[in-house]
Amino acid sequence: MNSFDDLLAANRDFAVDFALGGFDGVAHAGLAIVTCMDSRIDPLGMVGLAPGDAKIFRNPGARVTEAALEALVLGVHLLEVDRIMVVPHTRCAVASLSEGELRRQVSESAGQDASWQTFHVIEDQAQALAEDVQRVRSHPLIPESVPIGGFLYDVDTGLLTQKL
Ligand SMILES: [Zn+2]
Repeated sequence: MNSFDDLLAANRDFAVDFALGGFDGVAHAGLAIVTCMDSRIDPLGMVGLAPGDAKIFRNPGARVTEAALEALVLGVHLLEVDRIMVVPHTRCAVASLSEGELRRQVSESAGQDASWQTFHVIEDQAQALAEDVQRVRSHPLIPESVPIGGFLYDVDTGLLTQKL
């Protein structure tokens, strides 16, 4: 028995009516989204899109990291991205717990010291979003013609609110 057997079985069903074969990989709706890894978020569904439409970059807290910028630059120049959403969310663990508390919880789960593990906690979610949007706007390889929006996704209502 393999830990992934159920998923591989589901994948065989998925492939039966697979329609994305030969797809070019560009963002058909011209959109890139940076959002959190949170399992409550359906990045495509929440804006009415489907696979093939957008580039999605996820990490804890929806932060615009170096890796996120790398993805956005590739998206804009090679994959037809012409607008960018940065979408953190309500009740995000990295925006509501301190690094110390996260380390404590992980240490407890791991049964060993986790105080050396860095967690990029967000002390002020609104300020972090403003900084992240600015980080994209000021990137020399992201043209000014690309609109960049900062949003907050409410995991209890499914609604997006534009903040920036
Ligand atoms: Zn989150």
